[in-house]
Amino acid sequence: MRIYLDHNATTAPRPEVIDLVTRVLRDTWGNASSVHAYGQQAKSVLDEARSRVATLIGADPAEVVLCGSGTESDNLAIRGAADAQADAGRRHLVTTAIEHEAVRATMAALGRRGFRITTIPVDASGIVSVDAVREAVTPDTALVSVMHANNEIGTLQPIVEIAAIARATGALMHTDAVQTAGRIPVDVRALGVDLLTLSAHKFHGPKGAGALFIRRGVKLAPTLTGGRQERGRRSGTEPVAIYAGMGLAAELAQAALADEPGRLALLRDRLETALLAGIPDTVRNGAASPRVPNTTNLSFAGVESESLLIGLDLEGVAVSSGSACSSGTLEPSHVLRAMGCSHARALGSVRFSLGASTTEDAIDHAINAVIRVVTRLQGQAPRGGR
Ligand code: PLP
Repeated sequence: MRIYLDHNATTAPRPEVIDLVTRVLRDTWGNASSVHAYGQQAKSVLDEARSRVATLIGADPAEVVLCGSGTESDNLAIRGAADAQADAGRRHLVTTAIEHEAVRATMAALGRRGFRITTIPVDASGIVSVDAVREAVTPDTALVSVMHANNEIGTLQPIVEIAAIARATGALMHTDAVQTAGRIPVDVRALGVDLLTLSAHKFHGPKGAGALFIRRGVKLAPTLTGGRQERGRRSGTEPVAIYAGMGLAAELAQAALADEPGRLALLRDRLETALLAGIPDTVRNGAASPRVPNTTNLSFAGVESESLLIGLDLEGVAVSSGSACSSGTLEPSHVLRAMGCSHARALGSVRFSLGASTTEDAIDHAINAVIRVVTRLQGQAPRGGR
C-alpha cells in the first residue's frame, strides 16, 4: 500500500483534468490572440477557464490574470505593486516571517533594490499579530503581503483584519492563498484583498498554471512584457490546454468544498491524536485552530526528520520534513524558527498533508508505520532533549 500524505507539496491531477488537457492540446491548439476560427476556439476555452477560476474565489473573470505558477503570481503581485507605486513615493513593503520562498525571496530582492521591508514576526503558535501589522504600516507602505494559510503548519492568518489596516492607509493587500484556494472556501470580497495568488497543482490541476486576482482598478507594473496578453499584465502566448485544466480543477474543487474539508479534518485529527498519544514526547507545531483541515506538523523527540522521511518512504508513506539539507547539514525551517522552536524540535518536525486520495484505511496504515519507524529511530538515537 502506498500512501501519499504530501498534498501541500503537490496533488495528483484528476482524471477529468487529464482528459480535458489532452483533448484541448490535440483539438484546440490555436493561438488565442488569432482572429481566425482556430484562435477564437482557443479564446473561448480560455474564457471558460478564467470564469471557472474567478468563480472559485468570488472574483469577476476580468479580475483574473492567468499565469504559470503560484510563484509567478506572487512575483507579479509584489514586484508589480512595488514598481507601480514607487514613483508615487510608496517604497515600503510589509510581509511576515513565515511566507513561502516565492514571497520571501521576492521581498529580499526588492530590499536589495532599495525598498524598505518590514517583516512581521509570528507568535509561538504561528499566527501573525494584527497589532504588529498596524504598527508597521505607514503612509509610504505600498503593499502588505500576508499568506492565507501557511504551507508547513497550516495556520490560517487574520487576513480580514490585516486587509482592513492596509486599506485604511491606502496600501495594497496581497495574500498568497496557494494552500487554501480550492481547499477551503476563499472569497476575495469577504477577505477584502486587492491581490490573491493561487496555484492549480495544489487542487488537482496541472503544474504550470497559476492565477493572480487583481481587484478592478488596481494598477500593477507587468513583470513579463511582450505581446500584451492578459490585458497587458502577463505577456506570452497562453498555454490554453493547461489553463483549461486549471479551470476544470477549480470547478471540481469548488464542488467538493461542501464535504471535503470536514472529511479531511476528521482524518487529520485521527492521525494527530493517535501520534500524539502513541509516541511519547511528540508535540504539534502551530495552533490547532484556526488551521486548514488537511495539515498537521509534528515533532518527534530524538529523531531527525530526514531519517524518518526515508524510513517512512521505505514503508510506502510519503510525507515531508520541516528541515532541508543545505551544504551537507540539516537546516531547520524558517517557519519553525520564526515560531521560536528549538533547533532539535525543528529538526524533528514532519508535515503530514492530506487530500482527495486519503482514506481512513490509509490514515490507520500511516499511524502504524509512523509509530514503528519513530520507535525504531528513537531506539537508535543518543538520548537528548527536543
Ligand atoms: N506559496 C505557497 C504558500 C506554497 O505552498 C507554494 C508551493 O508550495 C507556492 C507559493 C509556490 O507555488 P508554485 O509551486 O505553483 O510555484
